[in-house]
Amino acid sequence: MSTGKINVAVENIFPLIKKFLYSDHEIFLRELISNATDATTKLTHLSSLGEVKGDLGDLTLEIKVDKKGKKLHIIDKGIGMTQEEVQKYINEVAFSGAEEFLEQYKDSAKDSGIIGHFGLGFYSAFMVAERVEIITKSFKDEAAAHWRCDGSPEYTLETSDKSERGTEIILHIDADSKEFLEDSRIQELLSKYNKFMPVPIKFGTREETLPLPEDAAEDAQPETKTVDNIINNPNPAWTKKPADLKEEEYKRFYRELYPMQFEEPLFNIHLNVDYPFNLTGILYFPKLNNDLNIQKDRIQLYQNQVFVTDNVEGIVPEFLTLLRGVIDSPDIPLNVSRSYLQADGAVKKISNYITRKVADKLSSLFKKDRASFEEKWNDIKVVIEYGMLSEDKFFEKAEKFALFPTTEGDYFTFEELTEALKEHQTDKDEKLVILYASNLEEQHSYIEQAKNKGYKVLLLDSPIIGHLIQKLEGSKEKITFARVDGDTLENLIKKDESTVSKLSDEEKETLKPLIESAVSNSGYTVQLEAMDSKTLPFVLTQPEFMRRMKEMQQTGGGGMMGNMPDMFNLVVNTNHELVGQILSTKTSKKRERLILQALDLAKLSQNQLKGEALTQFIQRSVDMIK
Ligand code: ADP
Repeated sequence: MSTGKINVAVENIFPLIKKFLYSDHEIFLRELISNATDATTKLTHLSSLGEVKGDLGDLTLEIKVDKKGKKLHIIDKGIGMTQEEVQKYINEVAFSGAEEFLEQYKDSAKDSGIIGHFGLGFYSAFMVAERVEIITKSFKDEAAAHWRCDGSPEYTLETSDKSERGTEIILHIDADSKEFLEDSRIQELLSKYNKFMPVPIKFGTREETLPLPEDAAEDAQPETKTVDNIINNPNPAWTKKPADLKEEEYKRFYRELYPMQFEEPLFNIHLNVDYPFNLTGILYFPKLNNDLNIQKDRIQLYQNQVFVTDNVEGIVPEFLTLLRGVIDSPDIPLNVSRSYLQADGAVKKISNYITRKVADKLSSLFKKDRASFEEKWNDIKVVIEYGMLSEDKFFEKAEKFALFPTTEGDYFTFEELTEALKEHQTDKDEKLVILYASNLEEQHSYIEQAKNKGYKVLLLDSPIIGHLIQKLEGSKEKITFARVDGDTLENLIKKDESTVSKLSDEEKETLKPLIESAVSNSGYTVQLEAMDSKTLPFVLTQPEFMRRMKEMQQTGGGGMMGNMPDMFNLVVNTNHELVGQILSTKTSKKRERLILQALDLAKLSQNQLKGEALTQFIQRSVDMIK
């Protein structure tokens, strides 16, 4: 037997490991299983080179909990280590690696979010164990080794009588880490980190129901048999070639990834590159609707089939974090902070690649089957609009397939839209007026008015559309977006013959103060306008600019508009019969009643009549008809 002192500069490396990584103790299991997997794949590699002779036998890894003995075992049948190798790889390599890691971690610990503390390695065992043993036998014809260390830098190394090839790591679990002696906790960790590792992992056993033989009696009970409980799928869909996968397999993999998701994804994008970086993965477009806050089933990042994190911020552009699926790349540096990551050239290339693939997929779906693309639009628009806003490269491509639906259910691309509107929908400056509504119910009467005049009204109802409108107006010449209730149609759209007012200037001068005094405490700005006689007598409008600024601020954006009250204009249609009647009414009481009634009707069509005002309106209406 030999004893020795691990040569570390920091005497108390173990307390440091515990202290720095306090919150993430659970990753020890991932690290040890990764080592066991590496040892196994190295063995198969050597075997394929002919350096290891004979049948390798079953290579399944095993995790065992010994609750009574307070031990956790991680057992592999991989290449193993000779005593010399233990001396080298564990006492020297592993621990110098530990020091290096801690050095790095100390500096960036303030900058929260080192991704998954990857690369912590073997010594992460000491986060949860007071003593660790390694019993290992190399594939080489040499005696097995038994290494013990109790967390101080002293270790012992002696010969063991282990006769099977491979390595067993025994953790004597610390009193304050008892949770890792619970089957359920270990099961949880295995399914979080190791669900798709490339070597089968056994954890306990389970009962399997056998199929009944064909000639079984009707009341026969199926038999069960005890089988190994293999917790992982070593060949997940993303590691296969796209050509070898059918639609159903993509869907099945989605369910495997998100067992609690019952809704099927809309479509998927298979990522697969090996130059200039290595990346595989499958992204799924879920049904998103207008919900920007679905964050629970997120994209998972793997490295060589080992789960790293489900926070891919900094790795994929933000708009794509709304998608689901898997990305696996050994080329993403992980022992760095996220802010470093965003500045990293390789990561930028990866991010651009993913963005391009997503844009290309959308573009091909659009070209191949437009009808089905239109059908999906409502569920995917948030991602596309968000991407157009935040990534110029994406904007360039998405412009060609981003859709603008009308309230009638027709879909236009931007180009088609400008073509369709250029004849009839321009303003006095020859700018194209793109009328839109944000809510079919609330803006119903405004939409109807516009439709009656033969105008097209878009339905733009996603939460970030205000920002995109702003961007489009800024980047396209001669267009302006106008919400249907932003102004009167007469003001928005230039007509060949302008509507002449039925009232004389004199009459208008009499009318305005009458109305102003009747609605004096409502805060509306009164405007007289000659509109179509079929338009309502009074119309409330909310100027586009102010409303848009306020909305944009609510969904992220600068400015001080948030606290400003909403501003409305009360537009009086001087061509409406009722307005003429208001003017000719002699008794002031009756006139006031007409004005208030017309105002309430205008409010009602803006969905603004509520509470006491609504009660009064109903009472007044009853009085008028009885
Ligand atoms: P890393 O895996 O990053 O090299 P570790 O500290 O985890 O660092 O391990 C150090 C070395 O110990 C490994 O490179 C490997 O050579 C050896 N080792 C660790 N675990 C095993 C194992 N289960 N079987 C064989 N060798 C192992």
